Amino acid sequence: MFEQIIGNEPIIQTLKNTIKTKNISHSYLFVGTEGIGKKQIAQEFSKALLCLEEPKYCNKCKSCIEFNTKNNPDFNIMEPEGNSLKIEQIREFQKKVAEKPIISNRKIYIINDSDKMTKEAQNCLLKTLEEPPEYITIILIGSNENEFLSTIKSRCTIIRFQNIPDDKIEKYLKEKENITIKNPLILKAYGGSIGKALKLQNKQEQYQQIQEILQNLKETDIIELIEKSKIIYEEKEEIENILQYINTILLELSKQNYKYTNCIQIVENTKKRLQSNANYDMSIDNMLLQMKEQIN
Ligand SMILES: [Zn+2]
Repeated sequence: MFEQIIGNEPIIQTLKNTIKTKNISHSYLFVGTEGIGKKQIAQEFSKALLCLEEPKYCNKCKSCIEFNTKNNPDFNIMEPEGNSLKIEQIREFQKKVAEKPIISNRKIYIINDSDKMTKEAQNCLLKTLEEPPEYITIILIGSNENEFLSTIKSRCTIIRFQNIPDDKIEKYLKEKENITIKNPLILKAYGGSIGKALKLQNKQEQYQQIQEILQNLKETDIIELIEKSKIIYEEKEEIENILQYINTILLELSKQNYKYTNCIQIVENTKKRLQSNANYDMSIDNMLLQMKEQIN
């Protein structure tokens, strides 16, 4: 149980104790950065809670077998449809919640990305959280705790996940994915998330080049700088990550040259400009030129 999980050991210990003592809540809220294993842990936890044998997670009982083949009728995962989780989905869920478990004496619902629930959906869900059938456990998963109504939060056992330390991510990439990190600063781009690290695994070269642009701002002339900024133009989909990474590099560089500190504000302004749909390429050029001005 939980063997494949990296990081968040105290949480895993807490959940193991819960399984052992059977002191199980009707509703949990798992919150933390995307890609750190919340859903994976919730699934492992569910499998153990549903297991019919002792010790739990036997992998032999009907519940475990059906769970492994994704056919356990007492376990469900709900995901948002499109950009939000709507009241209709919650109503549908409530009908199913009212039906008794089939294999186990418990029924578990994971609501993934539940921070995307509309306010109406949350208010509707609240009714179930206030008067849950005794056999039900609901696990809400989300990355932004502020999106939940306080009335929802007060009904849940809240479990806050921590980002995964860089050295653990590095070790994981090496051992499981055979990826070597060439530049330790790249790890900062992953923001403590294995999910993000896997998503960005082929981008090491690009991130390295971006770092070099920043390091060489002073020596690079303007034409060359615009030429080099193409690397950022091409990563439009990833710009949020990249700007975050640029800030990390700037922070690092400011240890040697205080002028880099002023560049962080330029990045923040660029973020705002892009959020208000300013021309992308032009905003990137402006950012680099303004930074160059600061450094010279
Ligand atoms: Zn079992």
